[in-house]
Amino acid sequence: MTDVVVAGGGLAGLVAARHLAEAGADVRLFERHHDLGGRVRSLRRDGFVFDRGFQVFFTAYPAARRELDYDSLDLRYFKPGAVVARPGERSTLSDPFRDVDGALETILNRDVTLRDKLRVFELRRELAEKSDREISAGPDESTREYLRGRGFSDRFVENFAAPFYGGITLDRSLATSKKVFEFTFKMLTTGRIAVPARGMAAITEQLAESAREAEVELVTDETVTDLDASDTPEIELGRESVTADAVVVATDPEQARELTGVESIPTDAKGCVTQYYAFDGPELDAGKRLLLNADSPAPNQIAQLSAVAPEYAPEDRNLLSATYLGVPDDPDEDLAAKTARALDSWYPERRLDLETLHTDRIEFAQFAQPPGVHDRLPDVRAPDGPVYLAGEYTDASSLNAAIGSGRTAAKRVADDFDLAF
Ligand SMILES: Cc1cc2nc3c(=O)[nH]c(=O)nc-3n(C[C@H](O)[C@H](O)[C@H](O)COP(=O)(O)OP(=O)(O)OC[C@H]3O[C@@H](n4cnc5c(N)ncnc54)[C@H](O)[C@@H]3O)c2cc1C
Repeated sequence: MTDVVVAGGGLAGLVAARHLAEAGADVRLFERHHDLGGRVRSLRRDGFVFDRGFQVFFTAYPAARRELDYDSLDLRYFKPGAVVARPGERSTLSDPFRDVDGALETILNRDVTLRDKLRVFELRRELAEKSDREISAGPDESTREYLRGRGFSDRFVENFAAPFYGGITLDRSLATSKKVFEFTFKMLTTGRIAVPARGMAAITEQLAESAREAEVELVTDETVTDLDASDTPEIELGRESVTADAVVVATDPEQARELTGVESIPTDAKGCVTQYYAFDGPELDAGKRLLLNADSPAPNQIAQLSAVAPEYAPEDRNLLSATYLGVPDDPDEDLAAKTARALDSWYPERRLDLETLHTDRIEFAQFAQPPGVHDRLPDVRAPDGPVYLAGEYTDASSLNAAIGSGRTAAKRVADDFDLAF
């Protein structure tokens, strides 16, 4: 039997391990943390759910569709578009094709121009016809240059694109590759934004359960400290070493580069701080829409999570998250004060008494994706010996890429070892 060791129990590692076990390999997965999931975890406390940073799931993600059972994720959906907020003003920008409630407000919205609305329509039609492969091919430029080149106004770029797409790519300057923008735009217009009712960790839990059912041995609290990539690779753990026929390195990019020496693994980080608050009384009228800060990046966006997924908070309490891009070193209470000031200015008619519940400071949430980066990403077989890479950084920085990379790595191992994939 082919022995495979998987280093890392994030989404990529779990998917790779499951497919290899199903293909007939004997698979052990070592995860250094106590919990599986890597960047996709949730803390459940006192009836609240705090995802590890503000993360959302796009239902149109092709790799996720293949690997996940959406029904059991029990998805809860955001409304399309967002509320653009600034002191004393809130306006709705939505997708009139899918959101009848927001259609009239969107048509009348003055935060973007009429031309912008027509350009969104054109872009939607164009990208719906473009395959994912076509989106990732060809020359690249920043999202900002791309939007300008397509004739979008400054108002559209600053009021909507910067906080909305900046919130997704953790880069409000819109210096991120236009390929990420096009793919994300297509996902948003062909599917929905959701969170599982039990939190984003439900995605991890489902993948872990499938791996267990396929008889993967999942070992947590065990770090792979070194890797000798000979014909029969030797894997150093805390107190012992093990050998395997093949190793799948599915750690975060920094660890993957350290373990394999592959220099093309990208390690420039995009981080963020997400803070969670409870408040009492009626929910904010933004409801299931994101609140975008058009005025300042502090915070970039606020999500009323309990309106989207009531399971995220105890009954009669509301849960909000505010996300700050980069990792500002302001103390927690200063961030909470900034959030309170922003909300007071957006909702002058309402005094919210926010209770700060939890703060997540995440140094490495995504790898930076400037124009051209995707052409330089490492191949699954970049390491020496029978060592394979799985991880979002082999494709793009997203859940979709992480899940897809697990399958790709498993397929390459299966091909090399004549397993029935
Ligand atoms: C705040 C935040 C917001 C995000 N927002 C979105 C979003 O809205 N949409 C989206 O699509 N994506 C989003 N992402 C990105 C997405 O979560 C990641 O791209 C994806 O989860 C990466 O999965 P992975 O398996 O490749 O790596 P990871 O999740 O990093 O998993 C690697 C695993 O390897 C383990 N490990 C590391 N070193 C070792 C070692 N030496 N030995 C054993 N184990 C080791 C780690 O503990 C970890 O569990 C977000 C991420 C964050 C953090």
